[in-house]
Amino acid sequence: MTSIANNYTKVVSDITQHCQRAHRETNNVQLLAVSKTRTAEQLTELYHQGQSHFGENYLQEALDKQNQLQALDITWHFIGPIQSNKTRAIAENFSWVHSVDRLKIARRLAEQRPNHLPPLNLCLQVNISNEENKAGCATDECLELITQIAALPNLKVRGLMAIPKASTDLNEQRASFAALAALLEQCQQQYPQLDTLSMGMSADIGPAIELGATIVRVGTALFGPRTYSS
Ligand SMILES: *Cc1c(COP(=O)(O)O)cnc(C)c1O
Repeated sequence: MTSIANNYTKVVSDITQHCQRAHRETNNVQLLAVSKTRTAEQLTELYHQGQSHFGENYLQEALDKQNQLQALDITWHFIGPIQSNKTRAIAENFSWVHSVDRLKIARRLAEQRPNHLPPLNLCLQVNISNEENKAGCATDECLELITQIAALPNLKVRGLMAIPKASTDLNEQRASFAALAALLEQCQQQYPQLDTLSMGMSADIGPAIELGATIVRVGTALFGPRTYSS
């Protein structure tokens, strides 16, 4: 087996084990393969292992790969920072966006989502560790933003996403995931259609799944370490 095939088997089995430990159904946790910096060939290889959801951070890089991989039935997620001038291409070329953190961006995505496509699935990114200069809305703005976004056309607001502060303290990491889960629960009281918690990356899918992640975003554990030289 190639390393991508091996890694995929390992990640899928890890997810299954974490679900069992947490008494959760395996099919309630979706693996999103984070493929930034990876080549179209690497994506193709993982696709043939059975992976169909891919997450990209950089628009131009993503569009290039989408172009090369048109023959594959991939569901594309945008997970990177969004400037206003990128919204049209995101609205036109992705099924999901996880990294919306302000109303202006949501409004543009709603306006620019082509009518022939299904609604764009959207997660609100939350700055769950209250870090300075970090993407994500403040926790106390979250419900208000969900309310405003839920009223927009062509979008389907699905839930919350966060990238907690990098920490070697497992308790701190778990506290961030628990806080995001609690925030989603609070929003669900008014918006019961919210069904998505996008949290957990290669290093911490265990605690994320235990605390309620429905999408884990995994790059390194599938493709190996990233090198940014290309
Ligand atoms: C790069 C990235 C990931 C994946 O990180 P790994 O540690 O490689 O698994 C997940 N989410 C976001 C938003 C990312 O930018």
